[in-house]
Amino acid sequence: MRKLGFVAALAALLFSLHSPAAAQVKGLYWTTSGMFGPFPITDLIPSVPKEKARNITIPVSMWVIDHPKGLVVFDTGNNVGISDGACKNYWVPGNCDGLRPSQKRDDVIDRQLQKLGYSADKVKAVITSHAHLDHIGNIKMFPNAVHVIQKKELYQAWWPEKFQRAGGVFVTGDFDGPAREFNYLELDGDYDLFGDGSVTVLSTPGHTLGHQSVRVKLASGKTILLSQDAIWMKENLEGYPAGLNYSVKDYNNSVNRLKMMRDLENADLFFAHDQDQFKAMGNKWYK
Ligand SMILES: [Zn+2]
Repeated sequence: MRKLGFVAALAALLFSLHSPAAAQVKGLYWTTSGMFGPFPITDLIPSVPKEKARNITIPVSMWVIDHPKGLVVFDTGNNVGISDGACKNYWVPGNCDGLRPSQKRDDVIDRQLQKLGYSADKVKAVITSHAHLDHIGNIKMFPNAVHVIQKKELYQAWWPEKFQRAGGVFVTGDFDGPAREFNYLELDGDYDLFGDGSVTVLSTPGHTLGHQSVRVKLASGKTILLSQDAIWMKENLEGYPAGLNYSVKDYNNSVNRLKMMRDLENADLFFAHDQDQFKAMGNKWYK
């Protein structure tokens, strides 16, 4: 009997050491790489009807995830080279005039990390939703991190469809040179980043060939879905699709996937570029 009690105590101790609660995300922070706009919403979502049209100034969402096993950045925003009015030095003029970025040097991911008490060289993993200019812009600031991206997205970034190439939404300078030699964790589908279910990369193609989103389970028990460009803003949930897609069929499947996960898991769903949601919920820690 005595021996059994000892075994049970040992088992309980081992279980507590390995319980998922010990490895949950400590905090999740929502920030932005400056803003885009103002411009009419119909520039991005042409199907929005006149009576619902408005001018928008939207965030360029980036996320910092503090996990006991390491610091994670989800998307690195616009390249530092467009900061402080220098947009046309780095992006083609059409993107500067169309998107109207207001990024200051202090808005860039390395400075955002500093403001939160971290440094870029401590980041263990950089997850990139997709290789468009407002999401992959500063991966070169993280040469020692593991870069988590869908393998298909890497292919597409290097040789995009012509309709995505013409406007320069893939900027080769963001991922050429030294970035070719980084450690890429090349995914083909979903992935449990730390093996404990707390940070899961979700394949959500459509906006681009290899777009991915992230699900975060917080220590509080709350689940948060970070759609990034799988869903730009609330109008996309109301049936008006984004005006830039690799595949509308895949895009719709991904929107529906995230909607159903939100409902099934009672999760909060945060979009990449929603003016009102960021105003209410951005620049905040979630724990
Ligand atoms: Zn975007």
